[in-house]
Amino acid sequence: MPNILDGKKLAQEIELILKQTIESGLEVAKRPPGLAVLRVGSDPASGVYVNYKEKACARIGVKSFARHLKEDISLEELREIIKSLNEEKNVDGILLQLPLPSHLDEDSLLRTIDPDKDADGLHPLNLGRLIKGEKGPRSCTPAGVMALLNRNQIKLEGKRAVVVGRSILVGKPMALMLQAANATVTVAHSRTKDLPTLTRQADLLVVAAGKPHLIGKNHVSENCVVIDVGIHRLSSGQENLKESKKNKLCGDVKIFEIEDKVAAYSPVPGGVGPMTVTMLLANTVDRWQKHCGLPLSISHLLP
Ligand code: NAD
Repeated sequence: MPNILDGKKLAQEIELILKQTIESGLEVAKRPPGLAVLRVGSDPASGVYVNYKEKACARIGVKSFARHLKEDISLEELREIIKSLNEEKNVDGILLQLPLPSHLDEDSLLRTIDPDKDADGLHPLNLGRLIKGEKGPRSCTPAGVMALLNRNQIKLEGKRAVVVGRSILVGKPMALMLQAANATVTVAHSRTKDLPTLTRQADLLVVAAGKPHLIGKNHVSENCVVIDVGIHRLSSGQENLKESKKNKLCGDVKIFEIEDKVAAYSPVPGGVGPMTVTMLLANTVDRWQKHCGLPLSISHLLP
């Protein structure tokens, strides 16, 4: 039987550590950690994710400064909001929920976030730090994958890793983190030829293509560990993609095809999703400790 990499359980364990860390630092810090999640417009998936994040903040004692901004906000207005959060001393982390409406320039807005409050590690300075192997806030989803692998004692040194997807949000930082852990990494993308031959060579396969059920049994070998980053909310016209009546989500991997073949896999839901939220909290608590002059006691949780 393959090992199921339970992100929900690990996220709960880490949340408990973060909650205790906040409680024990409050007396010196004199304020809780603060996180500002900025949501622009009415993308429904973003609404769900922001909601999860706010609830998670409340569970562990992070003060939420979330803002829901109108769809037609101008670049300048949004930049001003980010700048004022950069100055706000009770805010330790800022996250701009992606995707943004098409009239807004994502790059310039991410650049406006103070790199020291960059809760999703997407500022160019922090991406540069990742390339150089320097400490700094790390992108939450790949950081969550690293924590999940680490907790399940999946050794990466010398292993052959294939990352499917090269986005700045997931695929690219994921590949860099795996390389830093001494895996030999190949990145596949939409123009890659003969994906199954490539992925079958992987000891570790991380799939972040955003394509429901892209990966099936012909893409994996028997000793492979499969991490499914993809997450898709199924509508009524997609009944065929449902893995069970109850589950309204699916990933990029056909779990029902690979679950009896591979060594371990992360489920959807309950795998990478909860870990992403937890690493956002971990980044925020880490920043808070830094801003309040507390010992940096949770850096071992971050890659
Ligand atoms: P994206 O669309 O920005 O990038 C997708 C990448 O996959 C691209 O680099 C593209 O070249 C590659 N790709 C597309 N089709 C491919 C194919 N047929 N073969 C090989 N490569 C292909 O998406 P993203 O932001 O990186 O997100 C990827 C997925 O992960 C989405 O489903 C997203 O919802 C999910 N996601 C989940 C979490 C989480 O917390 N679980 C967080 C972020 C993203």
